[in-house]
Amino acid sequence: MFGGTFAPIHNGHLRLAIELGERLGLARVHVVPCGRPSHRSAPEVPARRRLHWARLACAGEPRLLVDDREMRRDGPSYTYDSLAELRAELGAGTPLLLLLGDDAANGFHTWHRWREIATLAHLVFVERPYEPPAPAAELAAFLRGRRAGAPQALQRQSAGLWLAVSIPQLAISSTRIRRLLAAGRSIRGLVPEAVIADLTTEDIRLLTHEEDPIAE
Ligand code: ATP
Repeated sequence: MFGGTFAPIHNGHLRLAIELGERLGLARVHVVPCGRPSHRSAPEVPARRRLHWARLACAGEPRLLVDDREMRRDGPSYTYDSLAELRAELGAGTPLLLLLGDDAANGFHTWHRWREIATLAHLVFVERPYEPPAPAAELAAFLRGRRAGAPQALQRQSAGLWLAVSIPQLAISSTRIRRLLAAGRSIRGLVPEAVIADLTTEDIRLLTHEEDPIAE
């Protein structure tokens, strides 16, 4: 499972899902746009638009499955709930992995039922530019003794291990994209062409609302 706000989805997200899918031999990567974030303010742009862009971005990548479960549930979107559903669908014996960029990992100890998340799935931490890994002390203590010796170990048990993975880094964030859009600048090369082509004036207005135009 790879979750995010995806406001909008960008090539950093896409490469993470593709690279890890290939490297770890994953049958599927569920790309799960967050319905209503619980630990940050909700994006102005509607959930159905973020979902649509995720579908456009992942089209033609057979391993990537855009999963709208967090948009179908009411209330705040908790990763725990999504993983519990996936676990029930997969059964107890199938490995399930949660893919997290380092910024998400650094705040992971504040997530709803985070310890239980780590028993429902393996945790895979992915390097992210400008976000050195800095796990909170309680997360570091929890992770001690649970490191997967090799990626193959994640296939031998269904949950409970963690692994850090480096992939070629792309210094792209949705924030930077929104700030470029706010400045009327191009986002070509950062966001899939199909998503760029789909952006309406109203989408750009909502994405850039309260965003400072980039100054660089
Ligand atoms: P924002 O700038 O609005 O915070 P974002 O670019 O961080 O957005 P999210 O939707 O919040 O995107 O991120 C979803 C997941 O993707 C997180 O686990 C995050 O760490 C990871 N991620 C986002 N961009 C990258 C990137 N360039 N490289 C690696 N991981 C990334």
